[in-house]
Amino acid sequence: MSFDEDARAASTAVHAGGRYAAVAPIAGVRIPLGARQVALGDGELRAWQRRNRDATVPHSIEQLRLAGNLDNLARIADPGDGTSRFRGRYPFLDTDVFKTLEGLAYLLAEDEAVGAAPGDVRDFYEEAVGVIEAAQREDGYLNSYFQAPEIEKEPWEDLAWGHELYNLGHLIQAAIAAKRRLGDDRLLIVARAFADLAVERFGPDGDPQVCGHPEVEMALVELFRETGVPSYLELATAFVDRRGHGTVELRVFPAEYFQDSAPLRDLDSVTGHAVRMAYLAAGATDVALERGDQELLASLQRLWDDMVETKLYLTGGLGSRHSDEAIGDRYELPSERSYSETCAAIAVMQWGWRLYLATGSAAVLDTVETVLYNAYAAGLSADGMAFFYDNPLQRRPDHLQRSGAEADGELLRRSWFGCPCCPPNIVRWTAELQDHLATSTPAGVEVAHLTAASITTERLSVTVDTAYPWDGAVIVTVDTAADDEVELAIRIPAWVVGGSIRMGGSAAPLEPVDGWIRVRRWWRAGDTVELDLPMPVRAHGAHPSVDALRGSIAFVRGPIVSCAEQQDTTADLDLLRFSGADAGRAVVEHRRILDREGIDAVTLLVPATVDAPAPAVLYPVLSGAPDAESAAASLADIETTASLTQTTATLIPYALWGNREPGAMRVWFRAR
Ligand SMILES: [Zn+2]
Repeated sequence: MSFDEDARAASTAVHAGGRYAAVAPIAGVRIPLGARQVALGDGELRAWQRRNRDATVPHSIEQLRLAGNLDNLARIADPGDGTSRFRGRYPFLDTDVFKTLEGLAYLLAEDEAVGAAPGDVRDFYEEAVGVIEAAQREDGYLNSYFQAPEIEKEPWEDLAWGHELYNLGHLIQAAIAAKRRLGDDRLLIVARAFADLAVERFGPDGDPQVCGHPEVEMALVELFRETGVPSYLELATAFVDRRGHGTVELRVFPAEYFQDSAPLRDLDSVTGHAVRMAYLAAGATDVALERGDQELLASLQRLWDDMVETKLYLTGGLGSRHSDEAIGDRYELPSERSYSETCAAIAVMQWGWRLYLATGSAAVLDTVETVLYNAYAAGLSADGMAFFYDNPLQRRPDHLQRSGAEADGELLRRSWFGCPCCPPNIVRWTAELQDHLATSTPAGVEVAHLTAASITTERLSVTVDTAYPWDGAVIVTVDTAADDEVELAIRIPAWVVGGSIRMGGSAAPLEPVDGWIRVRRWWRAGDTVELDLPMPVRAHGAHPSVDALRGSIAFVRGPIVSCAEQQDTTADLDLLRFSGADAGRAVVEHRRILDREGIDAVTLLVPATVDAPAPAVLYPVLSGAPDAESAAASLADIETTASLTQTTATLIPYALWGNREPGAMRVWFRAR
């Protein structure tokens, strides 16, 4: 390649233009607006960020110290009396420090701006950066597991399970966040030395292997964007292209687990370990965007569409198998065995954001929004200090499995895990939410997600006031505008039917094109665009091939998936039966559902009937019974027992389930 100078020039332009978002493509027409240009206003996502800062971050720092993640790095730098041992089981435990640092860079930058940096956060940041710098080997290598003197394994000896390049990926992402948000390049120096070692060892002329866990691909592309050094993009490209040719050494899991059964370009459906798959696809989308590789981009769009059409849960969760943490077959979507790892939700959002940057697709953002408010949001407790690893859509009353497949501890969310990949991933993703809301384009500004925020660009600055996702009223007020025609584009979710837009005069029907409302005009400060997006309760069924959901119905309002918890209804949840028409009679109400946390939720009061309990026969005989009376006349006889009573079921947002005593929960109900 010979785009060295072009890339360098472009990278310089990126920073001269103030591109400081977590994802900052050089190619393409959409420039994500970062935390310097997008500030969340008083709304749902801002509330998440406050909880992150006040509860999740201090809790995570404490847990990382308790679990030894930071000590593992510190003892490499200073072995002390030599009696300490590597703590934990996994060679990727450094990444939990890296992911936390990535989030802290955002928090510290914001706190510096308001002059209120919390001491613990700054102390942890400084201490961690210090031990990371000190632990790095002279040749650039860094991994506290393989560097531990008592661990008799050599660096790079086990690419399939060593996770060393996965570690590098998270280190790079933390380093770039620190550089872009804080102007602190200490981690970037460490990350580049390690990345240079990886380039030397695994670059186009090196050992043609890949890491067993994709992640480094998107980090390397971002490092290319940050530095303008093309070898990082070349290495990311090589990792994407090498995979799928039986490159990973197999021991326990099949090639599909590692996305190594077919090249990404030829894969017909997302496969294998869910987090690995979505991280790989996110990185490959970055590669396709920067290289202008339309063939690769088309493959990724096809994989995304297939995933949305056949493999995503209603909540946006990905992965239906606890075994191998795998995605599963098409339409294999059992509610109670949904794995839907919280990290997979984050990975899908990372992929979706990049796909939107490359294509402008509003439909992709619709899916990202579903993931955000459901599969992702459910991963964290209302108090911000407990986590689901897997996110089922049903919990049976006698269920005993602990989240995270661990044998002891809490029945619902847990305060930490032996494999704690999800909690620090929540820390960084929540801290970065504003970096994934809006972009500037040659025409103007695209508002990708509706949420209360102020968005500042040279040509157009606006404030978005809304209680979305709980309410569909959105007011966009122009704060400043250039003397020029500028386009303001706003994504309108596909579930919106009807609705109106008002600019000054009377309201007009909302008529989005490809999911966008685009208003191009000379704006003046004080101009407003008022949207009214109706949010009726929708009843959803499932594709008939989803065997687990045949004859089932679920309720969704706006992007929020509902569920019932046993605490809110006296009738057995398994006996509730709803019709599609019941959605139209649902009452939407703000209710206090968690007194302890003081949480009001938008609840749905939906009319239902309560079935009589079914006979205690697991497999009733349909024909060929010894006597006529014992045979059920038809399948309908089994499924439709007499409805005893009418009731009103209280449904709450799925993301808030599991914050009370353990009990039954359902997203999908019997339909009538
Ligand atoms: Zn995880």
